[in-house]
Amino acid sequence: MSLNEFSLIEHYFSAIGQAEGVVLGVGDDGALLDIPAGQHLVVSVDTLVAGVHFPLDAAPDDIARRALRVNLSDLAAMGATPRWFTLALTLPAADRGWLEVFSRALAMDAGQFGCALVGGDTTAGPLGISIQLMGLVPAGRALTRSGARAGDHVFVTGTLGEGAAALQLFEPGLKLTGTVREHLRKRFYQPTPRLQEGVKLRGLASAALDVSDGLLADLGHIAEQSALGAELQLSALPLAPWLKKLAHAETVQGWALSGGDDYELCFTVPPANLAGIEGMITDGELVASCIGRMTARVGVRCIDDSGELVHVDRAGYRHF
Ligand code: ADP
Ligand code: MG
Repeated sequence: MSLNEFSLIEHYFSAIGQAEGVVLGVGDDGALLDIPAGQHLVVSVDTLVAGVHFPLDAAPDDIARRALRVNLSDLAAMGATPRWFTLALTLPAADRGWLEVFSRALAMDAGQFGCALVGGDTTAGPLGISIQLMGLVPAGRALTRSGARAGDHVFVTGTLGEGAAALQLFEPGLKLTGTVREHLRKRFYQPTPRLQEGVKLRGLASAALDVSDGLLADLGHIAEQSALGAELQLSALPLAPWLKKLAHAETVQGWALSGGDDYELCFTVPPANLAGIEGMITDGELVASCIGRMTARVGVRCIDDSGELVHVDRAGYRHF
């Protein structure tokens, strides 16, 4: 790396976020991080490629926020608290204007979510951003995908389908009002990682993940890794009222079941902990809905109000 490139990193990336536990950050061959006794380090990485995960003409601040937040969502799903991250940036050119806007948005989000940039890599090539997030969780308390039992209740936080609906933004010719457009744009570029929810679910949820590939596919991951199946009550899917007005009921249901990019938490709750979760929901501490049960019979099935099986053929977003 040339001195010029190093001064660029120094200028834009050396002071991002809160530096708690950072013994040595940006500028050496590696970062030194202090892991407190009794804590596990949770590590997760996600790559966003221009033209694949965001449109080629996306604004740099939008890209920065989406890149950080989809990673934070993975930590939320583990019940972890974010601490540090590294950034591998592939840039077509060292465009100062672009870097200024990108790094400022990244700094704001890193500050808001309490994590510090401790290193990275900068290379020339087609635009791509890889962020590796590191966080802490008390040893033995992480939420995983494999702990569900038959009979556990299936919950999801927030509302579903907006991530998929947001892809409509990129369809030319679709008529959307300004408010809806802005809401979808925000939902796509600034998803809310459910970090507080993840922490609250420690000790109560038997399994959890974030909905990134679509509810059916993601619940399928919990089911598979727990060697179970699941039954989803279609009428219980949490849908925003404004979303229901955007398209036919079937389309909206498709977005909610198979669309992906929602970054809500899907989690399972053993009957013994149900009252605890419901209490938090009633008290307004947790926004979540019960959408089904885990079953001993494998496979994820959707049922309507009369208990009839409904065939849903889309299996969620697959990258390849
Ligand atoms: P090396 O060649 O030893 O891997 P680099 O020249 O790639 O080191 O990077 C120099 C320093 O700058 C390292 O501390 C690295 O972590 C940091 N760095 C490089 N790119 C970035 C970036 N995009 N964001 C934050 N830190 C970065
Ligand atoms: Mg390097």
